Amino acid sequence: QAQRAYNFNAGPSALPLAVLEKAQRELVDFQGTGMSVMELSHRSAAYEQVHNQAIASLKELMNIPEEYHVLFLQGGASTQFAMIPLNFLSQGKKAGYIMTGSWSEKALKEAKMVGDTYTVASTKETNYNRIPALDELVYEENTAYVHLTSNNTIFGTEWSEFPDTGDIPLIADMSSDILSYGFDVSKFALIYAGAQKNLGPSGVTVVILRPDMLERANTNNVPTMLRYDTHVKNNSLYNTPPTFGIYMLGLVLEWVKEQGGLAAIENMNKEKAALIYDVIDQSGGFYKGHAQKDSRSLMNITFRLASEDLEKQFLAEAKQAGFVGLNGHRSVGGCRASTYNAVPYESCKALSEFMIEFQRKNG
Ligand code: PMP
Repeated sequence: QAQRAYNFNAGPSALPLAVLEKAQRELVDFQGTGMSVMELSHRSAAYEQVHNQAIASLKELMNIPEEYHVLFLQGGASTQFAMIPLNFLSQGKKAGYIMTGSWSEKALKEAKMVGDTYTVASTKETNYNRIPALDELVYEENTAYVHLTSNNTIFGTEWSEFPDTGDIPLIADMSSDILSYGFDVSKFALIYAGAQKNLGPSGVTVVILRPDMLERANTNNVPTMLRYDTHVKNNSLYNTPPTFGIYMLGLVLEWVKEQGGLAAIENMNKEKAALIYDVIDQSGGFYKGHAQKDSRSLMNITFRLASEDLEKQFLAEAKQAGFVGLNGHRSVGGCRASTYNAVPYESCKALSEFMIEFQRKNG
């Protein structure tokens, strides 16, 4: 039995043990090919099967409408920050950004280099401790698209209900909560996510695209690799895709199916997060959550202690006890536990017990 850490890393983060073990079993001889997936030609039938199966599994699990395209790109979610305006922010139009954290800021920064933008709503004033209410969202005329970040990895907030933007295409960065619950994909014109939290290893970026978006895409002066239509026309095989990462993604998707799909995964995520939020809420202020309760993330749980010294002590003792990745991001400080799909219930239970014990000794 492998010695596994209590891994609360924000990303790259825990992968299911069963997936790692399957990859290990298949590593040097993938399905009788006499080679690893890494050594297969990306034009071979064996690889094509891996590639198309991963697309089919994602469509099945997320209930993605048949006509939508699923792409496997590279360059991380950060490259999508630029590709989205390059393709969809045309002259005479403006892109609207809903600002809920550092990743929304980075997305907006790229769009500003391409064209006109505006802020639909922002919660920066309170250090991004909440998601704006739907009636705070104000859209301007001639909006090319509206962009939101569904889960704010750094601040620990998550949308619980998505806005209805009518005819305006809605685009979401779902890097840190894709595949953690079921929702209506058809509300979105484009969804993107770096794989390294809930989907698999880093190196693959998933894009889910409504086909009519291609009709409104800019084609002039957009380099080939940065055009969505290039990847749609070639089934993400215009150039060499990150084949091993896509294979791993496929294994993760099979694992999610075995868990019972997104409804079951969502229930497990709620139970896991509740273990830790309950300790925070019942600590009488010893632990203070950063996010407002109605905006809490099921994926990234951010909290502080009374002083930086106490936080240092907490983190040092947690490390001693085998917990990895609990340091908060420098822009929030404090602590963060990332409880993605593959983080086992037992890890969350162990952390909640550790937190209770730490408070008993230091409270
Ligand atoms: N968006 C969100 C919400 C993220 O959490 C991250 C990475 N932590 C990114 C974008 C950037 O992703 P990448 O490193 O894949 O470019």
